[in-house]
Formats: sequence, C-alpha cells, structure tokens
Amino acid sequence: MFSSAEIGIDLGTANLLIYTKNKGIVYNEPAVVAIDTTTQNVLAVGEEAKQMIGKTPQNIVPVRPMKDGVIADYEVTSQMLKEMLKKVSKKLGHSLRKPSVVVCVPTGATSVERRAIHNAIKEYGAKYVHLIEEPIAAAIGAGLPVDEPVSNMVVDIGGGTSEVAIISFGGIVSSQSTRVGGDKIDQAIIQHVRKKYNVLIGERTAEQVKIQIGYALIDHPEETMEVRGRDMVSGLPKTIALTSTEIQKALQESLEQILEAIQTTLESCPPELSGDIVDQGITLTGGGALLKGMQEWLSNEIDVPVHIAPEPLECVAIGTGKSLKMITKLQKATK
Ligand code: ADP
Ligand code: MG
Repeated sequence: MFSSAEIGIDLGTANLLIYTKNKGIVYNEPAVVAIDTTTQNVLAVGEEAKQMIGKTPQNIVPVRPMKDGVIADYEVTSQMLKEMLKKVSKKLGHSLRKPSVVVCVPTGATSVERRAIHNAIKEYGAKYVHLIEEPIAAAIGAGLPVDEPVSNMVVDIGGGTSEVAIISFGGIVSSQSTRVGGDKIDQAIIQHVRKKYNVLIGERTAEQVKIQIGYALIDHPEETMEVRGRDMVSGLPKTIALTSTEIQKALQESLEQILEAIQTTLESCPPELSGDIVDQGITLTGGGALLKGMQEWLSNEIDVPVHIAPEPLECVAIGTGKSLKMITKLQKATK
C-alpha cells in the first residue's frame, strides 16, 4: 500500500500537523526543536521540546524556527521537518519514503522562504512537493465551497501570525497577514503581570492563563487563576491571583490589531464580492479562534456573521491533505 504516502503538512508557527489520506491527522505537536548549542545536535522535537522551554540548562535551547511566520532558520526548520516525518513513519509502522507532499505556506512568505520549505521537504526524500496558500487550505478544511463562484472570507489566527483572506473561485482575491497572534497575546499577559505585580511569569504560564481565563469580551463571568512567577524585587518565587477582567484588558490591544487587518481586507474587497461575504459571513480558524468570546466579540465589531470552523486547530492540516486529492485530480485531467 503506497497510498498513505500522500501527506499534507501544516507548518504552523506554533504547531506542526501531518495529515495522511488514509489515517487523517497522524501528527500534531508544537513546532519546536531543542538544540544542544555545544554540538548543534537536535535533542528533541515537538511536545518533548516544548516542555523544555524556560527550564533547560544554558547549552540546550528550545527553538521555534517558524515563530514569526517566516523561516527564521532554514537549517533548523529542515531538521525539524525531517525528525517529525521520521516520528510519523515510526508511528505508522511503515516508512513514509518518497511521499507526495502538500505543505501550506503563509501568504506573506517570500519566494526565498517558499523555496526553503520546498527544499527541506524535498531533501527528506519527497517525490513531489506542492505548496498551497494557507488561507485556501484553511477554507477547504473548514468545508467552505472554495471552487465555487461564491466568495468567502477566512481569518486564521495562529501563534505568530494572523492571516485574513478573501477567496473566490479557488484563489485569493485579497489578503492581509499580520504578525499578531497567540504569541503577542501571551507577551501582553507577561507585560501586564510584570507591570502590575512586579512578577515575572514564563511564556508557558502566560499561554495557560490565556487559554483558561482569557476572554475577548469585557462582558463575561469573571474567573480567577493562581499563577507562579518570580518576584522582581525580592527575587523569590511568588504566587498571585489573576482575574479574567484584567487579562481581558491586557489582550485587548492585540485583538484590535487583528480586527484592523480584517477591516482593511473588507475595505479592499471588490464590491461584487462584498454581498457574498455579508451573506456567508467570516470563518475563523487557527488556535486563536478558540479564545473565549471571540465569535461574539468579532461579530459585534464588524456587523458581519462570524462562524468558527469545526476543528480550528486542525482545519489547515485537513484542508492541506484534502487539497492533494484536488491536485491529483487536476494532474490526471491534464495528463
Ligand atoms: P499556527 O498555525 O501558527 O501553528 P495554531 O493555529 O496551531 O497556530 O494556534 C496556536 C495558537 O493558538 C497558540 O498561540 C495557542 O496559545 C492558541 N490557542 C490554542 N488553544 C487556545 C484556546 N483554547 N484559547 C485561546 N488560544 C488558544
Ligand atoms: Mg496555522
């Protein structure tokens, strides 16, 4: 059986997912590698490497090579991809040798970055590599009718970037990519805690705060959460209680920036397509879509219906994998 060697990869800034035609999502782990700086060896990838963030000795550094939506380090990215493909091969019990691969790239990726992604996968031994625009993959994964003459708007809120795109007839009509996403929100929480309490908390703690008590709307049932950090005056560990109200205020600015990208894209939408978008609404994908109150907040702000994709975190990977079928069909048709 060679058919499962057709795979789709969502190379996200926070998470890397691999989808195979037969088994669906077979890999879903943080896009992190831990590197030993003395030997340059990769010590761990994925979840194992993420666990090391903020906890390792100085010679071991966890790296997120895709952090800002661009390949910061080509060498590390290709090592990460290879290690992850190896892990998947092991898990599936057979080798993913010479797979046909579709991988999604952020719309803001330069041609140099696209080539870097292409080459990294090719180096692993892929028979065939196809790059697909991330918003198209997100739309396919969300089950939107991308190849029909109806336009759709997709907003993907990832870790490092948020991508806003209007899609019609299978192509991107207009798009906007901003380097504001979940990471910026985590940083805003860290800054808030540092300023208000003089306590330094880590990135992972900030992310947990966001997921547990982060709300997009001011109007919500208030919750509290205890976190531990380091008191910046005494230098000692300290536990503080955070409220969802103060966290909502801390993340507001990042949300406004995402909103701005959506508004700019809507404003640049050709008038013929605006009607469709008002009818169809906007579909949210990516981990940021899971922020509590997101749907309600956004629809209040823009007066257009807002839908959350069925599996926001898996949507792009599913769409990438499914697009392969379309590409194969197209290739057969043109042969
Ligand atoms: P990328 O495609 O850039 O890898 P993802 O779509 O996987 O990003 O989303 C990752 C981001 O989503 C992270 O910043 C993570 O903290 C955030 N996230 C995940 N789950 C939630 C949640 N329940 N609420 C808010 N943010 C979330
Ligand atoms: Mg993504």
